Amino acid sequence: MPPKYPPGRPLSPKTYEVYSRGQRNMLLPCSVPGCCKSRFGVAPICSAHLYHRNRYGHALGVPISPRDLHPVASLVVPFLSRNADHAAVKAAAEFFSNWLHAASSGHEVPARKEMAHLEGFGVTGTQLLEAATSCWVYSRWNPGRLPDDVRLTFALALCVFRVAPPKRAGVRWRAERVGKAGGKTAYGYRQPNYQCIPTTARRDAGELIRARLGLFLMNVTAALEAEDTAENNVRKALATGFTLTGSTLTGFKPTTPAPQRGEETQQ
Ligand SMILES: [Zn+2]
Repeated sequence: MPPKYPPGRPLSPKTYEVYSRGQRNMLLPCSVPGCCKSRFGVAPICSAHLYHRNRYGHALGVPISPRDLHPVASLVVPFLSRNADHAAVKAAAEFFSNWLHAASSGHEVPARKEMAHLEGFGVTGTQLLEAATSCWVYSRWNPGRLPDDVRLTFALALCVFRVAPPKRAGVRWRAERVGKAGGKTAYGYRQPNYQCIPTTARRDAGELIRARLGLFLMNVTAALEAEDTAENNVRKALATGFTLTGSTLTGFKPTTPAPQRGEETQQ
C-alpha cells in the first residue's frame, strides 16, 4: 500500500490547511468534561468519544441493550396487545409495515438497506412498534441514561434494527489463548464480524420515527403512567391501616362501681 503523502510530493494548499489544522487541534484536550485525552483530527473530541458520537448520536451516548429494555417491554407489549384494536395502534403498526414493504420493494426510504434486511427475516410492523415504544418509554422513565435528545433519536432506530439479527460481515480471528487441546495450548478462535449500521441510517430512521409517531408514543407513555397511578392508588388503599374511633372498654361507664379485689375475696 503506497504511503498517503509521498515525501517527494507536496500537499495541495487545501489538504495542507486541513492537515495543519488537525495537527494543531490534536495538541488540545478533548472537550468532554473530565476527559484528558487529546483530540482526534479536526474533531473537538477524542477518538473514544468520537466513536460514541457516531454510534449513539452523542459523545456521552451509551448503547441500550435488550436487557435494559426488558422491564419496560414487559409492560409495553401487553399494553399494545390489549389495545390492538385501537385506531392509533393500528395506524402505527401500519406505518412500520409500509416502511418495511417500501424498503424491500426498492423505494428510496430512510435506512432502506436495514429495513429490507428486517423484511428478509419476516419481521412484522407490530414487532417494530413494540421495540420503538419500549425505547421511548425507557427514555421517559430513565432520563439520566437515555435523555430526550439526539441520543433518543439514535436509540429508537437501533432498537428497531435490533429486532432481527445483524448482518454478518465475514469472520475474524481472535488470537487469544482458549485452552489446551491434545497436550498443546490452543490459541485463537473464529468470531463472526457484524456489519456496522451507518450513522446516517441511524439518524434518518430515528428522525422519521420521532416525526411520525412522536405524539402516539407520548400518549402511550401517559396511558401507562395513568395505569400505574391507578394501581398504586388501589395498593395504597389496601395498605391503609384502621383508626380506632372508640373502645367499648374505655368508653363504657358502669353505673355501679366495680367490686374491689379485697371485697371480692371477702364474699
Ligand atoms: Zn474524550
